[in-house]
Amino acid sequence: MELNSKIFVAGHRGMVGSAILANLKSKGYTNIVVRTSSELNLINQDDVANFFQKEQPEYVFLAAAKVGGIIANSTYKADFIYENLMIQNNVIHQSFKNGVKKLMFLGSSCIYPKMAPQPMKEEYLLTGLLEETNEPYAIAKIAGIKMCDAYRDQYNCNFISVMPTNLYGFNDNYDLQNSHVLPALLRKFHEAKINNDDEVMVWGTGSPLREFLHATDMADACVYLMQQYNDKGFVNIGSGKEISIKDLAYLVKDIVGYQGRVTFDTSKPDGTPRKLMDESKLTQLGWTASITLEEGIRGVYQEKFLN
Ligand code: GDP
Repeated sequence: MELNSKIFVAGHRGMVGSAILANLKSKGYTNIVVRTSSELNLINQDDVANFFQKEQPEYVFLAAAKVGGIIANSTYKADFIYENLMIQNNVIHQSFKNGVKKLMFLGSSCIYPKMAPQPMKEEYLLTGLLEETNEPYAIAKIAGIKMCDAYRDQYNCNFISVMPTNLYGFNDNYDLQNSHVLPALLRKFHEAKINNDDEVMVWGTGSPLREFLHATDMADACVYLMQQYNDKGFVNIGSGKEISIKDLAYLVKDIVGYQGRVTFDTSKPDGTPRKLMDESKLTQLGWTASITLEEGIRGVYQEKFLN
């Protein structure tokens, strides 16, 4: 990828896409193409075909997706599978038809079996049943990985995939129903502090273990792998560090400076008990995360709630 290569970042307004765009700009890339969803509907086959024919990007970061937390995933199952399959089918196929030099598909750690041994290695894909709360989303993401591999096998396309762990960062979704855990906790603790509430309710038992990675780190890894990695299969991208939801809740409580009680709403689902990815492939390729969870959360809290 040269500094003047034409690069399409699909999903540049999302948390990861916006971080990839910022990373590319900071590294001196000058020829970046973006479209908002109202300018280009990635679900529409003709629109995507016309866009690729006209723009002829050389490199594609496929960071556009319908995403959400545990409740969003289990409530909007049809939307999650339909929209994600359409977006990735359109972008991957048109990248092939228009001779894109390299494409990166962004997956998710929920592609792994619910009871996969921990930490999860890339080869555990399709070795067991998925977590039911996000199965349709995971099936779409697995299809994306397999599609990249299939186009590589049949047509020699240099299409690669990466699997991020749970991400957080700037431009996240703070909807209390549909967001992921970290933005939800930041908002809940912040609002409880402002309103002097004496209790904050955290979903589930607090015992699930999750690994978190800042989207800024994720973007750096994506751009790095776009330059370095040219193989079949995919690469996990994570921090290699895990924390229980309970400890996470207390960490967010401290960062926000909330003084009240923390309780657990066990009528809400826990989801997968543990989700830690094995990062040895990524480490061997020469990349490791640099933003600690505490400093990352502090930065996001500052930017979103204190400015
Ligand atoms: P997951 O990693 O796919 O399960 O996605 P989430 O980020 O939505 O949830 C992670 C864990 O945090 C689950 O065990 C949730 O039950 C728990 N959790 C605790 N409080 C919240 C909350 O307010 N919102 C969300 N989304 N999850 C929460």
